[in-house]
Order: sequence, then structure tokens, then C-alpha cells
Amino acid sequence: MNSTTANSSCDVVVIGAGVIGVSTALALQNRGLSVCIVDRKGVAAEASQGNAGAFAFTDIEPLATPGILRKAPKWLLDPLGPLSVPPSYALPILPWMLRFWRASWRDRYVQSVRAQAALMALSRVALERQISDVSGEALIQREGQLQLYEGEAQFRASRAGWALRKEHGVSFEAVSGKAALAEIQPGLNERFTHGVFTPEWINTINPKSWVQHLASSFCDRGGRIKIAQVVGAHAQPDAVTLDTDAGTIVARKLVVAAGAWSHQVARFFGDRLPLETERGYNTTLPEGAFELRTHLTFGNHGFVVTKIDGGVRVGGAVELGGLKRKPNYRRAQVLLDKAAQFLPELDTGNGQQWMGFRPSMPDSLPVIGAAPHVPNVTYAFGHGHLGLTQSAATAELVAAVVTNDRPAMDIAPFAASRF
Ligand SMILES: Cc1cc2nc3c(=O)[nH]c(=O)nc-3n(C[C@H](O)[C@H](O)[C@H](O)COP(=O)(O)OP(=O)(O)OC[C@H]3O[C@@H](n4cnc5c(N)ncnc54)[C@H](O)[C@@H]3O)c2cc1C
Repeated sequence: MNSTTANSSCDVVVIGAGVIGVSTALALQNRGLSVCIVDRKGVAAEASQGNAGAFAFTDIEPLATPGILRKAPKWLLDPLGPLSVPPSYALPILPWMLRFWRASWRDRYVQSVRAQAALMALSRVALERQISDVSGEALIQREGQLQLYEGEAQFRASRAGWALRKEHGVSFEAVSGKAALAEIQPGLNERFTHGVFTPEWINTINPKSWVQHLASSFCDRGGRIKIAQVVGAHAQPDAVTLDTDAGTIVARKLVVAAGAWSHQVARFFGDRLPLETERGYNTTLPEGAFELRTHLTFGNHGFVVTKIDGGVRVGGAVELGGLKRKPNYRRAQVLLDKAAQFLPELDTGNGQQWMGFRPSMPDSLPVIGAAPHVPNVTYAFGHGHLGLTQSAATAELVAAVVTNDRPAMDIAPFAASRF
């Protein structure tokens, strides 16, 4: 990979070499611009490295659903449950939680679902364009997803969510009975009696390899990746200057795709944005751990089981604990123990644990669009649980904004100024 030298310049500089930054850099390059990426750690070093690898096009509902705050206290009582707030972070997270609560009101919820569904529709077609652009089919698995339910009552409770998805064009098949479930995925615990299969769901064989593949295409086409920490930024009418710990970078335009740290960069341009991190955990087991035929979602337990490089990744959970606290890997262990109950033949030996920082806005919508006060700076962050899923669409939208073209969909719901 090439790397830039100090005091370098290009048409557009992108901060962040995660899946959002690299996808965006490629889309800008496809519009004929010279692009460089700056990242303090390198390609796919943070959330984009260890996620579940799912292009989860069916997930159009925000986390802030009406009534969520009635359910949350029950989850919060279990410190290792699917949702947790470490006591010392209860106060710092309060302003974000208040916005989250407001986002769960029916009027805002309906707007969020509409915006998310539109972004998902674009994400699906944009991903196919991206796969073909980078000849990436070898890194893609098209095996669908199975959501699992324990008993009729749990299945019935999920129906409203599926009806909503149907309204927004998501296709799925309800599966009833243990025999029918076993035809899709053998080896499930008997407690699972119902499921919903979503055939159009796609996974990558490994999210890190996927971003590395995108980055190789970017570099092969003349793109440059510089390893440096951005510590300051100034915008003039026709240029943006970044101060880094390895020199200065000057570009005509800037894209901020710094994941869970993007609010720190946005402050250089006068914006205080409610970006928080939902920390997530997983364990990756080697090849042979289980014969997984599709992506499994245990929604009522807050985790998924997914195929990564022929092995198995068990992960999920939401810990609202900020960027500085050390990982609590007991969370990963709790998920793995549950997975061993639900898949009795799962071999849990030789696992590799990981924690990542999901970049999350209170309404579950990303920030996509020009910085409110600085037109030559564009924001692309805050994708929460869905950054991989929405990366190709975000890249196309941002490339349109940067080149003063008309985006393929209405991006007003994603404006930074909505807060
Ligand atoms: C457990 C878990 C499972 C998940 N599963 C899925 C899934 O299946 N599907 C899905 O769609 N999403 C999933 N996600 C979410 C997804 O991983 C994220 O939304 C996505 O990776 C965010 O990408 P990003 O490029 O915005 O951020 P990141 O990948 O975090 O990249 C940001 C980059 O910016 C760099 N950076 C930050 N500040 C600076 C600075 N000042 N100077 C220089 N560089 C800087 C960082 O080094 C980093 O490399 C999951 C997340 C977790 C934690």
C-alpha cells in the first residue's frame, strides 16, 4: 500500500480507514478525484474489523422503539445482560439517553423507520454495484438469515415487526415446527419452535478481509493511505488543512468517517454531536466448531451466530460504556455459554474474544451530509449496528454530496443539524 508523506495534498482527504471511509474513498475515486485516507491505526483497525459480517438489509427498525424504556430497566438489572450501562457511565450517557427516549416517540420512530428503510433499499443495490466494481464475490456468502423464537407466544410477539418489514418490501418466510427449522439449520436446541428466514440477507466471509480487499482496490487505482492521528483541522473556503502527528495534509475537501471518534473531529468545525458508542463483544471459533448453514439471530437474547472464514463468530450485546473503559470480556463469555446451550454440538474451544465500538446516534440513523457550517467538509458516521450494511450506499451518497451532484435519495433525515 502507498502512504502519503508529510505536507501532502489531494482533492479529497478521508479521515478513517474503516468500512465507511474506505468505501467512500473508492466511490470518490470512481468520480475521478484524487483521494487519500488518513487513519491512526490502518485499514479496518476498529469496529469494521471484528463485526458479525452481516449485510443486514432487513433491520429497518431503530433501537429506540415506542415502549423501549419500559423494557430497558428489566435488561439493565442484569449487569451481564444484552444491554448494560456501567454505573460510572450512567451520568455521562444521560444526555444521549434523553435523546434516545425522544427518538422512541411514535412520530420520530415512524420517520426513522421510513428513512432507514429507504437507506436499506439503496444499500442493497449499492452493495451489488460495489461487489462487481471490486470483483469481490469470492468474499461474499449468500446463505440468508434465520431468526429464532422459543414458542408460539414469542413468535406472535414478533409479528408486528415482520409486518412493518413487509410494508417496506423485505421478503421473508415464516417457519413453524422443529422439523422445518432443522431443514434450514440442523443442531438447534429443542426449545426453538419457530423462526423467520430472510433469504436475501448476505454476509461477508470476514469483515476485515472485505475492507482490506476494498482498500487494495483503492490503492491499486492510485489511492494513498497515511497512518497518522488527526489532532486538529481548519477549513478555508477552498481548502481543508489537517494537522496530524506525522505532518500536515491539505485537500480541497474533507470527509469525516472516523467511526465512534467522529464527534471529536466534528468539534474542529464547531459541531457538538450526540455520538456515543454501543460497545459490542464476540468470540470467534476456528473452523470445525459447528456446521453453520445460515446466519442465526437469537433476537430475544441479543446475539447472533455467524460464519467467519469457515469458523463461527458468536457476538452481540450493547454496553453503553464510552470509549475509555477496558473491555469486560465476561460479556463475550456469557454469549458463548448461551450459544453452547442453543447449539448443543458447538465446540467452544480455542475462541478469540473481541470488543468493538459501534458509533451510535440516539435515533439509530447515521449522519450523512455536509457539515452545517463548513460546506467543504462532509460527514459520514454514526451507523451503529449497521455500518457494514450501509457502507456502499453511504459511499455513493457522500460522493454525490462532495461533487455537488444530486444524491440518489433524500438525505435530509441524516443531516447533522437534526439535533
Ligand atoms: C460486535 C459488533 C457486531 C457488529 N455486527 C455488524 C454487522 O453484522 N453488520 C453491520 O452492518 N454492522 C455491524 N456492526 C457495526 C459496524 O461494525 C460499524 O457500524 C462499522 O464498522 C463502523 O464503521 P466506520 O468505518 O464508521 O468506523 P470504524 O471501523 O471504527 O473506523 C473508524 C476509523 O477511524 C479512525 N480514526 C478515528 N479517529 C481518528 C483520528 N483522530 N485520526 C485518525 N484516524 C482516526 C480509527 O482508527 C478507525 O480505523 C457491528 C459492531 C460490533 C461492535
